Amino acid sequence: MKEFDVIIIGGGQSALACAYFLRRTDLSYTILDDQSLPGGAWQHVWDSLTLFSPSEYSSLPGWMMPKSESNFPSKDEVISYLTVYEERYKIPVCRPVEVKAVHHTRHSFELDTSVGGYRCKALISATGNWHHPYIPEITGRGEYSGIEIHSAYYKNADNLKGKKVLIVGNGNSGAQILAEVSKVASTVWAVQKAPEYLPDEVDGRVLFDIASAKYHALQAGKEFDAKQYSLGNIVMVPSVVDARERDVLHYRKTFHAMTPTGVIWEDGNSEDFDVIIWCTGFKPAFDHLKSLDIMDDQQQIETTETESNAIPGLYLVGYGNKTGFASATLIGVGRSARNTINQITAYLKQTK
Ligand code: FAD
Repeated sequence: MKEFDVIIIGGGQSALACAYFLRRTDLSYTILDDQSLPGGAWQHVWDSLTLFSPSEYSSLPGWMMPKSESNFPSKDEVISYLTVYEERYKIPVCRPVEVKAVHHTRHSFELDTSVGGYRCKALISATGNWHHPYIPEITGRGEYSGIEIHSAYYKNADNLKGKKVLIVGNGNSGAQILAEVSKVASTVWAVQKAPEYLPDEVDGRVLFDIASAKYHALQAGKEFDAKQYSLGNIVMVPSVVDARERDVLHYRKTFHAMTPTGVIWEDGNSEDFDVIIWCTGFKPAFDHLKSLDIMDDQQQIETTETESNAIPGLYLVGYGNKTGFASATLIGVGRSARNTINQITAYLKQTK
């Protein structure tokens, strides 16, 4: 059994941000990541995905992302940044190590992993959500015999030339994939509610500033109204602007059932599709924590900021606003990571 004061599960941007603050303490720690290479989920995103903000708004604590070739850094530039960040700060990452289950005993955690047992006093889960693509339950789904792809596995439109493709989901993934696929295939966009677009000049910078203003307002016990720019709205990256100019950003209200060859729309008409691309989001990758029996019916874990309400010493970092404002972004996770390491330091002093 290998022992550390703190173990971080996951080797993406959230894990690295936590490691940055841990290395300033005298605590022993390691990262366990199930991937063979650095970069976390960025290794798997589609080829043309870029960040929503310029590099100076996309940095982890301590070291700025180098300036990008273009306005918004590409996925390869993000992976390269995360790879060099690990090396620069000599962050100890064990790869590939999958954490299969976590057990809690008084003041310690025991981890079953693909390479044997680990033990620690405080545990950070930073596993993101890429392992858990979500597709809604739809009548007849099992009977559809065409090709289904979740955005988690979509790479590019090379194999879709000349096909009839249904894209499902009104978020940024749906809009960006529609923009790309519509250049080579006939597309229909199915959405639950009408997509809302940000003004062309609003990118991740503005969204992050809003998230920060909201954070500070709530900390000060004030109300905050961000109605004008909802964080879930579609960012007008160049590919989506181009799709608007080609007049392909049409959508229709989603279908209610599937057939062996396509879907049945709300009005009862059916339509056939060769391919369906699900851009319907993700759920947190919490499989390794199931053994702790702390998940609710929605498969969520209750926390106060990042600390588990049920188990002291367990922290969840990077899972979005529920575990810290903007914590699912490169620039936002730093604040969450710093607070978490401060809390861990205090917790370990108190349980000594
Ligand atoms: P991940 O990057 O998913 O890393 C988690 C790691 O943990 C992975 O390596 C995973 O394999 C590993 N893991 C999981 N389970 C286990 C286990 N049991 N044992 C061991 N290892 C495990 N973010 C931005 O900052 N700026 C943007 O502009 C931006 N744009 C985006 C656009 C789109 C369309 C999408 C879909 C996402 C965007 N993101 C952006 C978000 C970003 O991609 C993710 O939020 C980010 O990768 C999350 O980082 P993470 O470290 O929390 O998780």
